[in-house]
Amino acid sequence: MVIPAGAAGNIFLVGLMGSGKTTVGRALAKRLNKRFFDSDHEIEARTGASIPLIFEIEGEASFRQREADMIRDLTAYEGVVLATGGGSILNPQSRDYLKSRGLVIYLRAGVSSILQRTGHDKNRPLLQTADPRARLEELTVQREPYYQEVADIIIETGRPNVQYLVQTIIAYLENLPQNPKGIRLTDADKQLMNQTAQTEQAVAIAEPITLQVDLGERSYPITIGQSLLADGKLIADSVAGERAAIVTNTVVGPLYLDAVARSLRAAGKRVTEIVLPDGEEEKTWENLQRIYDGLLSEQCDRKTTIVALGGGVVGDMAGFAAATYMRGVPFVQVPTTLLAQVDSSVGGKTGINHPLGKNMIGAFYQPKAVIADTATLNSLPPRELSAGLAEVIKHGAIIDAPFFDWIESNIGRLMARDPDALAYAIRRSCEIKADVVRQDEREGGLRAILNFGHTFGHAIESGMGYGQWLHGEAVGCGMVMAADLSQRLGLIDAAARDRVAALVQAAGLPHIAPDLGAERWLELMQVDKKNEGGQIRFILLKPLGAPLITTVPQDVLLATLQACTAR
Ligand code: NAD
Ligand code: MG
Repeated sequence: MVIPAGAAGNIFLVGLMGSGKTTVGRALAKRLNKRFFDSDHEIEARTGASIPLIFEIEGEASFRQREADMIRDLTAYEGVVLATGGGSILNPQSRDYLKSRGLVIYLRAGVSSILQRTGHDKNRPLLQTADPRARLEELTVQREPYYQEVADIIIETGRPNVQYLVQTIIAYLENLPQNPKGIRLTDADKQLMNQTAQTEQAVAIAEPITLQVDLGERSYPITIGQSLLADGKLIADSVAGERAAIVTNTVVGPLYLDAVARSLRAAGKRVTEIVLPDGEEEKTWENLQRIYDGLLSEQCDRKTTIVALGGGVVGDMAGFAAATYMRGVPFVQVPTTLLAQVDSSVGGKTGINHPLGKNMIGAFYQPKAVIADTATLNSLPPRELSAGLAEVIKHGAIIDAPFFDWIESNIGRLMARDPDALAYAIRRSCEIKADVVRQDEREGGLRAILNFGHTFGHAIESGMGYGQWLHGEAVGCGMVMAADLSQRLGLIDAAARDRVAALVQAAGLPHIAPDLGAERWLELMQVDKKNEGGQIRFILLKPLGAPLITTVPQDVLLATLQACTAR
């Protein structure tokens, strides 16, 4: 069946009464410069009688036939937006007209929100009953399969924010593949829309925030916001040339690759997709080689932008590929883990692991832009969310005491993935990290403070065998140990030490260290690559909210190891 895609053809809105079809339809028509019809209004105009009266005199069956005739006539036009009556899809002829003559959008609303919106509306004949809620629930069950059958797109309309719904629909239409023959959307597309709409409607969408990382000619913007990937323009604008190569992995690809690739293609860019295996153990030379293979075999040139779509592993590898492919090509980060959004995507460190050590091969290479979509965090496993929170807590602990207080007060919201709380935490983290990086891009000194908790953390990671503890988990525990050490040296008081431990715990992170044995601990901390001249340099707190880099007496260190480990 031929469906004109994009904004060219007809758009039909279906859904229960009170789901916003008329309001949304009218606003949509205005934005798309189309004619708007509401089938109920047209029936009333044609018959000269109100819908309740027609129902009363003729009964529902007869009304549905009138409605089907009206839908037949209205869908025969071109370039219209049509809001249909809630029950129109019960009639098989109406369903056929809708399916075959335009793009059908199902506005799905919950019973409670419909009740709120319809109130005591006398023009809703089917709701003139003692128990409207029960009636609506019945109607939902009865009609849902028909709405699903006719719909190309399903949008949850939980919040009656018309402009937002209209914007979502338009963004979606704009991102449809250019398709002159107009093939119907696949089920996968329906699902995608459905998902995005659901996560979006859970909150009033705050405006995206843009920060500038100030590095002279290497400066770049970080944009943070809810559902940025749905806004195709942002991604497309960040890719300067005609070509992009998206690097992602087998976990993130199925979730977000389509949306990103589609946005770029819709903007006329040629897109190469490179999907790598998932996991820290895959941050290898072999997979770097695969990126080069993909780029070369598709003849990507020096103007091709590499887009890293994924967590820190993908970001570090794709960034290193960008730094080295043809001596450097443009690079955009689309981080999808909290850790990547608050930490690894900012600052320009890129690289891969070597069998003899993590991150041993790499380069400093700044992206052209970072796009952090907080909606992607909804699919993140809980352990990964907590791991990202470790780096957020770190930023408060070493630089910004009020931010540390804020995290303490909002840890519940952060754990519940409240998008506004996450956006603020990401923003503040990026500001703090960007500021440190601006002062010391290549880790001559100050940048080392970002390793708070990491000296202990790295020892845990490698002592337990990589992959047992996530990096963020090890850092969380490492911060508790560094706070303990700070307290033993009289740099912070016991209350501050306890606050760090409590916050780490509240973030779902381990706070008791594994028992590696004192000797092994010392050995592991000695090999940490941040050590110079054999002395272990610790990042400590003095006071909470400020860093101190120092060496420490061995007996105090041993006391901390003793106190913090499980036995
Ligand atoms: P990761 O990239 O391995 O991601 C964690 C897991 O989550 C992976 O399985 C990934 O596929 C999956 N995932 C990613 N996004 C998802 C989403 N939206 N929904 C569901 N699953 C998703 O790990 P990470 O914690 O993001 O990054 C760790 C890496 O970052 C390490 O290699 C570390 O060395 C590096 N790192 C780099 C810097 C830097 O400055 N460059 C800083 C910190 C960490
Ligand atoms: Mg870290």
